[in-house]
Amino acid sequence: MCNVKLTFIGCGDAFGSGGRFQSCILVESGNSPFLIDCGSSSLISIRQNSINPNGIETVLVTNFHGDHFGGLPYFLLDAQLMKKRSRDLAIAGPPGLEKRLTEIMEATFPGSSAMPMRFGLHIEELQPGINTSIGNLRVTAFPAAHLPQDPHIHLRIECGGRVIIYTGDTEWTDALELICADSDLIIAESYFFDKQISYHLDYVTLAQKLGEVGAKRVVLTHMSEQMLAKVRESKFQCARDGMLIEL
Ligand SMILES: [Zn+2]
Repeated sequence: MCNVKLTFIGCGDAFGSGGRFQSCILVESGNSPFLIDCGSSSLISIRQNSINPNGIETVLVTNFHGDHFGGLPYFLLDAQLMKKRSRDLAIAGPPGLEKRLTEIMEATFPGSSAMPMRFGLHIEELQPGINTSIGNLRVTAFPAAHLPQDPHIHLRIECGGRVIIYTGDTEWTDALELICADSDLIIAESYFFDKQISYHLDYVTLAQKLGEVGAKRVVLTHMSEQMLAKVRESKFQCARDGMLIEL
């Protein structure tokens, strides 16, 4: 077991609520730092936090929406053209990742997907329920309940002897019930405070469900303006951009 440090590089939603950067969390454990999600604005926040992107070994993504996935073209081309990365990089995410990564590279920088990369790029499409080794991590994806056009996943990540759950964008699911009970940290989207809508979680639901599963530690993220106005009423810690926590 070793110290695990998390930096909330971005804890905002898709629409810049609260002036926050989009989803991106740096996890440092031993010498294998990794990102959870890489929203479109993430490279800006990586710079603001003086984080060396070439040190990041793995990027895990939970879905293909821009606020979780849209930063990858910038991250990859910065590594290729500006930072002259040599260290291999793994990117893992839902089934369809390789195709969607090519598409977003072509949409943002035409021709870029065919560019020979100066570093090894390993794409891992996570199959639901299969525990997969990625570097020093063990990662399991579970189906989340979000828009039906694309797969969305929850992540269960084992690193440094700890278990981190990241809900991604979702409604509450039976899978969360199972995986949250046995975890050291749950990072949960809390889009609204008490407004219950399809495809997203809200604070009132989380307070009830996470109480029932006996969650040890919870950090809320991906908050709308309505939720941000209510963070003082939350019994759970609420993320801020740049916030550090240790496990
Ligand atoms: Zn989102």
